[in-house]
Amino acid sequence: MIITENVHCISTFFTNQYLIVDGHTLFLIDTGLRGNAAKIIRSIYAIGHHPSALKQTFITHADGDHYGAANGLIKSTGCRIAASRLEAEAMIAGSSSRELKPKGIFKHLLPLTDGLFRADPTNVDTVLEPGLTLPILEGLKVLSTPGHTPDHISFYLPKHRILFAGDSIWLKNRAPCPSRGMNTWDIELSDKSFQAQMALNPSFICAGHGILKLY
Ligand SMILES: [Zn+2]
Repeated sequence: MIITENVHCISTFFTNQYLIVDGHTLFLIDTGLRGNAAKIIRSIYAIGHHPSALKQTFITHADGDHYGAANGLIKSTGCRIAASRLEAEAMIAGSSSRELKPKGIFKHLLPLTDGLFRADPTNVDTVLEPGLTLPILEGLKVLSTPGHTPDHISFYLPKHRILFAGDSIWLKNRAPCPSRGMNTWDIELSDKSFQAQMALNPSFICAGHGILKLY
């Protein structure tokens, strides 16, 4: 799915990944679950590029449904992996950066989904500092958006008003809202991050589990 000429969404199972095309170089935001590398590679071919064009994969946070396929992509493309400091530490350990807080029935269901959401230890080449503007498509900003996890980051293309929000923004009934519930590390921070991102007045919210065009 094309969001703009240079930004493509790759939907796999229940996650979204985003491919940014800058000339002959590709950048990916998040990878989805462990088995997703083949679909991402097919999507790269489908838009007329060779997998070796993927130079860098940015990870918004260390949940297995966001970095699970990173190792597969490293093998098949040679791309480098970038993440924030605390999320990188969790990825290197093959874990998440926070404990889940299941309540009620979820206490029993959570262990059943463990295998699906698990990611293998993953090497991180670059630690991204929030506040940085990467030289991609006239500037890709790295935003600090903690709350869902302790060091969650988002990415923003001001020129195109496209926000890549990972899991810091959820889309429910086509309305954006902050991360909530058992997989939210800190609700207050989640609200603050949500408000700061909405204040940017994005035209597109490209989230980990949905896309919303606002205007
Ligand atoms: Zn998450």
